[in-house]
Amino acid sequence: MNYTEIMVRYGELSTKGKNRKIFISQLAQNVKRVLGDFPAVKIHADRDRMHLILNGEDSAQILPKLEKVFGIQNFSPSVRVEKTMPAIREMVQTIIKSAYQPGQTFKITSKRSDHSFELDTNELNRELGGAVFEVFPEIAVQMKKPNIEIRVEIRKEGAYLSYETIRGAGGLPVGTSGRGMLMLSGGIDSPVAGYLSMKRGVEVEAVHFASPPYTSEQALQKAKDLAAKIAPYGGSIQFIEVPFTEIQEEIKRVVPEGYLMTVTRRMMLRLTDAIRVARKGLVIINGESLGQVASQTLQSMVAINEVTTTPIIRPVVAMDKGEIIEIAEKIDTFELAIQPFEDCCTIFAPPQPKTRPKLEKAQAYEARLDIEGLMARSMAGLKVSEITERNEQNEEFSDFL
Ligand code: ATP
Ligand code: MG
Repeated sequence: MNYTEIMVRYGELSTKGKNRKIFISQLAQNVKRVLGDFPAVKIHADRDRMHLILNGEDSAQILPKLEKVFGIQNFSPSVRVEKTMPAIREMVQTIIKSAYQPGQTFKITSKRSDHSFELDTNELNRELGGAVFEVFPEIAVQMKKPNIEIRVEIRKEGAYLSYETIRGAGGLPVGTSGRGMLMLSGGIDSPVAGYLSMKRGVEVEAVHFASPPYTSEQALQKAKDLAAKIAPYGGSIQFIEVPFTEIQEEIKRVVPEGYLMTVTRRMMLRLTDAIRVARKGLVIINGESLGQVASQTLQSMVAINEVTTTPIIRPVVAMDKGEIIEIAEKIDTFELAIQPFEDCCTIFAPPQPKTRPKLEKAQAYEARLDIEGLMARSMAGLKVSEITERNEQNEEFSDFL
């Protein structure tokens, strides 16, 4: 079917009172970014719906992209035809021919905002139902939950016909809840945590710690590829690579084995928080899941979290691994995440980190480090790139600070 327009129905945002305007304009902006490859598409957003005028762009490529955009309840691709009965009848017949399977039921639902049109909605329904029977005399009408519902809308500019309603991703438009720094490793959990916070409207920037030459170029690329997988839910993602080699070597040198992990995590969190301030983020997001590994006991969280009062959102904290994997499969990050490239934590991790680290001990060992100097040098080497679904990157060095 050669669709000319897509009608988009908003999700939860329709209940949000005075924020509505902000939500709608953010959604329009996100849709525009996601459809960057289709410059002819025009977006008209009003209070209740958004109309995407395709202007000849290919709907088959656009529909799957729209399915990912948060803040959309559902959408219907439609065809515009001339506002005359012969043209409308013909399109109804084209639609039913492409949609109908033997045994299915149908219904015509007409709407008229142009009241000067020659037929009213009852007459339209009857007339167009007749057009369907001409093609398939055996088809049955069903008012409640028909298999095929052909919607006809007579507007000033023309008649719009649609029959498919495609479910959207739900959630809130990315950006409407503010910005958060996602601690993105190359694992299964953190991309899922990023996806879930984006679903609630958070604009996510990915912070990734790399320790070359201990960690490989592939491990870094894997984290970027994971970012590219969740980028289309909002449009794009800023990816911040943090040089972590010196800090890990230094920790390894001065901190006893049992506390390597705790002190490493405290440094990661401190740096993420400093980056958050520089990037005007509000919160930190990570992929911690309670009880999964030594660093994810409640005692560990207490000992690590102490370095900041910034809220840390942990979207997967209470999920079982199986539940997290289910989402990872849905968003297509699972296969990538299980590729065996070691990240910085795996390489420096002792075989048996303390599962109940004591905060005071962590603080005491950490006092052996030049925390300020280490952080300043790492911050000076940040690399920021923009990641889109196509994983295009515009490298830019730390002059953004
Ligand atoms: P994931 O599957 O997300 O790697 P995990 O279960 O392997 O999580 P850890 O390796 O203990 O758990 O990491 C806990 C969290 O710390 C991760 O979810 C992520 O948010 C953050 N993290 C770990 N390593 C890195 C890294 N190299 N860069 C950025 N964040 C990291
Ligand atoms: Mg991990």
